[in-house]
Amino acid sequence: MLIVQKFGGSSVANAERVYNVAKRVAETYKKGNDVIVVLSAQGDTTDDLIAKAKEISKNPPKREMDMLLSTGEQQSVALMAMALSELGYPCVSLNAYQVGMITTSAYSNARLKRIKPDRIRRELDRRNIVLVTGFQGMNRFDDITTLGRGGSDTTAVAIAAALNADQCEIYTDVDGVYTADPRVVKDAKKLDEITYNEMLELASLGAKVLHNRSVELAKKYNVELVVRSSLTNAEGTVVKEACKMEEMLISGVAGDDEIARVSLIGLADTPGKAFDIFATLAKKNINVDIILQSIGRDNTKDISFTIPDTTLSDAKEVIEQNMQRWGAKSVDYNENLAKVSVVGAGMVANTGVASKMFEAMYDCGINIHMISTSEIKISILIDKKEMHRAMNAIHGKFDLAD
Ligand code: ADP
Ligand code: ASP
Ligand code: MG
Repeated sequence: MLIVQKFGGSSVANAERVYNVAKRVAETYKKGNDVIVVLSAQGDTTDDLIAKAKEISKNPPKREMDMLLSTGEQQSVALMAMALSELGYPCVSLNAYQVGMITTSAYSNARLKRIKPDRIRRELDRRNIVLVTGFQGMNRFDDITTLGRGGSDTTAVAIAAALNADQCEIYTDVDGVYTADPRVVKDAKKLDEITYNEMLELASLGAKVLHNRSVELAKKYNVELVVRSSLTNAEGTVVKEACKMEEMLISGVAGDDEIARVSLIGLADTPGKAFDIFATLAKKNINVDIILQSIGRDNTKDISFTIPDTTLSDAKEVIEQNMQRWGAKSVDYNENLAKVSVVGAGMVANTGVASKMFEAMYDCGINIHMISTSEIKISILIDKKEMHRAMNAIHGKFDLAD
């Protein structure tokens, strides 16, 4: 069998953990499998590198940021290769350039376009364990790019798809996907399985256990994922197309406090305003999430929307350049908000979900600033400091711990 195993930062945080992973990988290899291992940077390395950059520059060039951040993953694969060699296993570490991980040119948030599988195949044919850097790619200028925070999961799934792997295992510091972040909601329950669609929603709404684009890719290429712990042998969670059990009403609760809200106030109440604003933001690769437009009054209206807080400085630049043309009287930025969401495929057929969620907020006196719904999720915007309390209250309301 060809097996892809991805290990996250905490799983390789120090020498002892590196050896723990090396032994797990060796077990799989010894059974006669071909093994490709995708690794993240050790522990807090990526955060530390970002902090180092900020010591030098408030707004470092994105190209150079990717050059810097990609070094974390390169350390991990080299160290793992040393550990496996020490244990007597043949292996080779490869970076994105050597693997031919071609991405778009958008530094810090590049998307994978294709992988040239030849080099990996050659190494597997030699019976080498192949260690590949997660998170990084290269663009058409031969520059190093990165896939966005948490992107190593996406590297692993992309390799599994490109090489038609039999199994893709994501090893992390929890033993599976839970009904909510188990570090925040103590009653959260581990799921045996979850559909791509539900996992995609949870991941996109803040459940960091999987990078949302890894789930998108897994769905597209039908790669079954297993999420499990690198420290225990507990059975993990399978992420796949359809689950055996009847669709659950709610599959989970997610929280995201890495957002910012922008409000454009006093815009002329005429056609084409929303089009102009959001087209301009899209051109700058700024992802807009929840949008709220007020009722027009005195021929003016306000438009508020949320964006990832990492894109706030880009958004500020665009807004300052265009505000006059849009005719906005003022602008307000708020970084003290969080988004809490409930996700569930069964929600379509049940009308009571929204009111139950709002009741949970009423019960604990939390004010809702914005609401957004779709067939499979409901999201609310609340004060950031209330996020954990809100997640627990909502989780409790739906009896997810049963
Ligand atoms: P890795 O470094 O292995 O990629 P991450 O920190 O990116 O690990 O993701 C694992 C973390 O995701 C867990 O420690 C947990 O706190 C968090 N998490 C958030 N939502 C969930 C969820 N629904 N189920 C499991 N873990 C979750
Ligand atoms: N090291 C990168 C990060 O911290 C990628 C990853 O862990 O998946 O975001
Ligand atoms: Mg991760």
